[in-house]
Amino acid sequence: MARRKKVYEGKAKILYEGPEPGTLVQYFKDDATAFNAEKRATVEGKGVLNNRLSEFFMSGLNSVGVPTHFIRRLNMREQLIRAVEIIPLEVVVRNVAAGSISKRLGIEEGTALPRPIVEFYFKNDELGDPLVSEEHIIAFGWATQQDLDDMVSLALRVNDFLSGLMLGVGIKLVDFKIEIGRIWDGDYMRLIVADEISPDSCRLWDIETGQKLDKDVFRRDLGNLADAYTEVARRLGVMPQREPGTTKPTLIN
Ligand code: UDP
Repeated sequence: MARRKKVYEGKAKILYEGPEPGTLVQYFKDDATAFNAEKRATVEGKGVLNNRLSEFFMSGLNSVGVPTHFIRRLNMREQLIRAVEIIPLEVVVRNVAAGSISKRLGIEEGTALPRPIVEFYFKNDELGDPLVSEEHIIAFGWATQQDLDDMVSLALRVNDFLSGLMLGVGIKLVDFKIEIGRIWDGDYMRLIVADEISPDSCRLWDIETGQKLDKDVFRRDLGNLADAYTEVARRLGVMPQREPGTTKPTLIN
């Protein structure tokens, strides 16, 4: 049997050719990286959790009319997605100051922002994904003004959906990153949410205790990452069961 073709391998995921034209298979690895891959580890079960959580968020977005690349989950670690042309920007939405905005602007972590703030970072590992302005984006041709308007609108709709979902289970959505891709329907181009939405790409704080339930647990050595992600999944009803004494997730079909 022919081996399927690997299209791309990133830090946390692998993309394979999909079964039909215009599709890909996205495989979630257990690898965790931070600080532009200077810090690395393997976290058993992380890929399974993120596959399941990204499915949950993306299918929820699809169902409220926010278009995403997600088609269906294939197994524990893989999902079928639409192939897109990724726009080389990371789109970050912030509700509360944390991480790089706190450092850059000297705003204490945990300060509520006056309104959601959308930022763009140029996807370039060699440069460490620098913050860029709309002027840079248009001048260098990474996206058009129309794309930018659509990206801001998509990002804010994702923020509304995710922050409501999280609030319902006692979690504050501090910030998150999404990636956006282009697809063509005949002559028409549309932008859709791509990549993944998971605790790897969000900051999630328990509303009562402030406990971090996201990748900062790994970045800042705050405990077991799989336990934190399992807690998010459990609260959302994605994986309500957990084998006591293990970090191995137990999936509910
Ligand atoms: N983020 C991400 N990938 C990146 C950079 C940031 O998923 O390459 C997410 C990060 O997890 C957080 C949000 O984007 O939820 C804002 O990150 P920030 O700019 O504060 O950067 P960091 O503190 O992670 O360096």
